[in-house]
Amino acid sequence: MMKKEIEKIGVFTSGGDAPGMNAAVRAVVRTTLYHGKEVHGIKRGYRGMVEGEIEKMGPRSVSNIIQSGGTILKTARSEAFLTKEGRRKAYQSLMSHAIDALAAIGGDGTFRGAVEFFDEFGVPVVGIPSTIDNDIYGTDFTIGFDTAVNTALQSVDRIRDTAQSHDRVFLIEVMGRQAGFIGLAVGVSGGAEHILIPETKSDLDALCEEARSWARRQKGSRIVIVSEGDELGNAAEIGKKIAERTGIDYRVCVLGHTQRGGSPTARDRILASLLGKAAVEALLDGETNVMVGEVNGEVVRTPLRETWEKKKPIDDRLVQLREILSR
Ligand code: ATP
Repeated sequence: MMKKEIEKIGVFTSGGDAPGMNAAVRAVVRTTLYHGKEVHGIKRGYRGMVEGEIEKMGPRSVSNIIQSGGTILKTARSEAFLTKEGRRKAYQSLMSHAIDALAAIGGDGTFRGAVEFFDEFGVPVVGIPSTIDNDIYGTDFTIGFDTAVNTALQSVDRIRDTAQSHDRVFLIEVMGRQAGFIGLAVGVSGGAEHILIPETKSDLDALCEEARSWARRQKGSRIVIVSEGDELGNAAEIGKKIAERTGIDYRVCVLGHTQRGGSPTARDRILASLLGKAAVEALLDGETNVMVGEVNGEVVRTPLRETWEKKKPIDDRLVQLREILSR
């Protein structure tokens, strides 16, 4: 652990936006001020760092945002920051504001950039996991996941009404290119008949057989939750394959970016508040290159590198639940 007196923290949101990012920004700003230090907001993630979009923040800068989705600091992906020249510009911007530490709110790409930046320029950084996908090792839940699941669930409940009325198979596609955390949580909580996620083997023959049996067993609504990263394809492709083999009528609904927006749930606001505070305290303790997360109800610090090198497993209990409860 390296010790360095921190006076001015820069906070930014980066990568995909997630509900609760604002609550995390608020927690970082107010905790930093509470400890008598200064805090600056960096706009548009690494892009704003490279381009020098940096502003001092006060307690009122974060008034009335805990309930808002999106991020007041904006977010972006930055090609320039992938280059050494871009990162040098980012360092110069930080130095021109005398920023001596960073609180990085985002996903694994954001953390990879932060480690690279620290290795080159030595600016201490602590990560705060915020992505709807929940695919980050070192925290049971990422900020935004709970809201995204609840938002998707509302849609699933509505679709079930129409599916039930028509005795129709519905394939509902949820976000998660590499990870099935959203798919599994939405599937189990929405009582889905089948859940297709990248982490488990998807079997088209078995799915078709199951689809035939829904009709035989007079199941009303027939909901299949599809994570966009499933190996059988997206919801439209899978629906077509089922229809070709079984002749079963189906509809597809892609929930898409609706899952990203909206007011964060209480769980996400609390998690964001806890982790925002913990990140500032870690920086003031002289920590760097760690992510703060919550594991089994405790706030823990995990080396940033582990957050993408180690893979967080999906909850096997939920996989089993799906098999038992979807009869
Ligand atoms: P999400 O999981 O929601 O997509 P993320 O933080 O993983 O969020 P990315 O788009 O992967 O989002 O990364 C955000 C930004 O981090 C990139 O646009 C890029 O500027 C920077 N970045 C990512 N990987 C690296 C790297 N290896 N070196 C330097 N910068 C990086």
